[in-house]
Amino acid sequence: MKDKQSWFQALLSFASRCKGKMILSVICSIISVFGGFVPFLGVYHILKLFIEEQADTCQILFWCGICVAGYVVRLVFFAISTILSHVSAYTILETIRMEIADKLMKAPLGDVMNKTIGQIKSVIVDRVEAIEPPLAHFIPEATGNIVIPVAIFIFLLVFDWRMALASIATIPLAAIPFGIMTRNFTEKYDAYMKANNHVNSVIVEYVEGIEVVKAFNQATSSYEKFAKAVASFKDYTVAWYQSTWKLMYLAFSILPSTLLVSLPVGLLLFSYGFLTAAELCMCLILSLSIIAPLMRLEVFVNEMKVMEYGIKETLEFINMPELPNADKPVSLAHSDIELEHVSFSYTGKENEMVLHDVNLKMPQGSFTALVGPSGGGKSTVARLIARFWDVTEGGIKIGGIDVKDIPLKQLSDIVSFVTQDNFLFNCSLKENIRLGDPSATDEQVYAAARAACCDEFIARLEKGYDTPAGDAGKRLSGGEKQRIAIARAILKKAPIVILDEATAFTDPENEDKIQQSIMALTKGKTLLVIAHRLSTIQNADQIVLLQKGHISAIGKQDELLKSSPLYADMWQAHIGAKAWAVSDESGVVVHV
Ligand code: ADP
Repeated sequence: MKDKQSWFQALLSFASRCKGKMILSVICSIISVFGGFVPFLGVYHILKLFIEEQADTCQILFWCGICVAGYVVRLVFFAISTILSHVSAYTILETIRMEIADKLMKAPLGDVMNKTIGQIKSVIVDRVEAIEPPLAHFIPEATGNIVIPVAIFIFLLVFDWRMALASIATIPLAAIPFGIMTRNFTEKYDAYMKANNHVNSVIVEYVEGIEVVKAFNQATSSYEKFAKAVASFKDYTVAWYQSTWKLMYLAFSILPSTLLVSLPVGLLLFSYGFLTAAELCMCLILSLSIIAPLMRLEVFVNEMKVMEYGIKETLEFINMPELPNADKPVSLAHSDIELEHVSFSYTGKENEMVLHDVNLKMPQGSFTALVGPSGGGKSTVARLIARFWDVTEGGIKIGGIDVKDIPLKQLSDIVSFVTQDNFLFNCSLKENIRLGDPSATDEQVYAAARAACCDEFIARLEKGYDTPAGDAGKRLSGGEKQRIAIARAILKKAPIVILDEATAFTDPENEDKIQQSIMALTKGKTLLVIAHRLSTIQNADQIVLLQKGHISAIGKQDELLKSSPLYADMWQAHIGAKAWAVSDESGVVVHV
């Protein structure tokens, strides 16, 4: 777990795969810095030769050669350091993304689904990507920018301590406006990130909801919200910039004015004979070389914050609790499902339970229907059986074994969950169906598609089964997409099928086809249907009426019609609506 670590420790732990490369990158960067130092030494010696009137071509050429060699060392090692640091940075990015993807698989599915797509995308793509530039450039550039001034300062200190002090005299002066400017930097950066996240979420909401916005003619008010968020982010950023730029320019104009101090001090030392003319020139050149790298370090103040926030946000994902997973497959004697005193709260809080002491047995091969008012807990029961979450109290058994003791992979093999949200992957329709059983032959895929009544609409597509789901997706109706999902589940041959009956796509033709495909899918299986249309579940072995998280009635249709006034009312409403749909004079079929 990385939750107790600082962001920097976490970053280092992500770097464990490329530690060697990072160390090598630092070493190369240091060699490059010293290579860059050599030309100064060369120039000093050439000046010395001229001033002492001992210059001859051979010696000048020798020192020129030394300068060039130093410069080449600097360039080559800087390039190696940069390459290594980029490879390390991308390895770290890969590690972070793999760890997040791994966590999304191991965390309770429900917790993952509770995060918005915008949130997940923003972290995996944007925040992680934002870590790369500072990470890749920090090692070679920051190392150099720190080591050069320190090395020059030590050299000057040894050479003439007075010149050394004179060369850094502007630093404390510049530090004053810089310190004022960076006061409360963390709080301001926090607010900046909040404003940034707000803009992101408003943009995602605007784009995702564009259909609704247009349908309800809300373009103006939605655009206003969008424009307001963007404008307020701009105002915040500009105000922050305006509050700092004067101080920043003041600091940056003081910092490089080294000569204002080092030149008079140097001339004084020269006039008293403490320095030769060549030494004075070298000290002045070196003093100028202290400040430039320090100024380049400034960008890293901001870049470090970018890394800190990127890592912190990825840690929120990486530290998500995992569902405990049994590691040994268990042998299941049958596929009965049993809920024993199940209570559940999404928040874990006692007073926010959405299921209360639910007891239910679904024997192997039976057909159970969950019905009841919206929000009663039907989907929650289905999700708990598929172990999207763990129950808060009580237990769920499949084949007599607690679902917590069945490895998640095995559980997903024995339970097919067909939801209303029929996601198609961006591959061919054939491969989308084959996801149900990756080892299935083409013939088996076609047979499943036929059983799910998909073959006829797939045949109408130009490339048939090879049509990419992206292209086909635009042309497929919701009902057709659901039939593909059912074909996928047929191929999976899981002994337990949980079906969230579609509320949409219920035109008679589609309804008939969906019913046929459901029959093919559920033959001989333990079947649990979250039912929205009571006519489809008249033959269920048991109908369970869930109300406010309690089972308020259970039995066959005939029994419930007699024993449960709520069920009787629901049934009347249903057949009334159906009759109304059929007798609708306009001939338009009304969804029921
Ligand atoms: P149904 O399927 O009968 O309409 P649900 O099982 O979806 O009912 O919901 C039962 C209760 O749980 C509702 O009060 C709902 O608001 C709440 N709920 C459903 N999903 C979540 C979730 N992901 N996080 C928090 N609460 C939820």
